Amino acid sequence: MKILLDNGHGENTAGKRSPLWPDGSQLFEWFYTREIASRVYSELIKFGVDSELIVRESIDVPIRERARRVNAICKEIGIRNCFLISIHCNASNGKARGWEVHTYLGQSKSDDYATVFWNTARDILKDITPMRADFSDGDPDWDTNLGILRETLCPAILTENLFMDNQEDCRFLLSPTGKKAITDIHVQSILKML
Ligand SMILES: [Zn+2]
Repeated sequence: MKILLDNGHGENTAGKRSPLWPDGSQLFEWFYTREIASRVYSELIKFGVDSELIVRESIDVPIRERARRVNAICKEIGIRNCFLISIHCNASNGKARGWEVHTYLGQSKSDDYATVFWNTARDILKDITPMRADFSDGDPDWDTNLGILRETLCPAILTENLFMDNQEDCRFLLSPTGKKAITDIHVQSILKML
């Protein structure tokens, strides 16, 4: 199976950043998710897992183009042989904290994969930040009508890795421990899936 890694947003995307914290630190989502995606990519290569970064540019690549790239690979090697992960950080009102995983509406293979991610994240993030689940349809992922999940042919999930506008979540994200934790959630989940 080929793992396709998507990091949304670009250096030119408005918003999508944490506040500037009193200690001078700030998280830019486009930069952070590229760093995590390339760490995940390097780890997967070490484990012999076929993987590809969908967005190598630092500018914003529209969802239509990202979906086109994913679908071109799906058509080349087969939908069943691809799995897309879109890596993000969440933002809300500054108070919300935690980790979420999203799939497109309805039940599919994506939901099974999302559950593997959710269980891994729960083990890694316990005592650090809340796990945010939506059990209304019987599994922990959120069913969301997101373009990158809707427009792509293969199984796909989107991870919202903590809230960058919450100071505690953001401090953790930016720490070496936090970066390793977020990377490990993705790598360990993929290895379990395979
Ligand atoms: Zn995002």
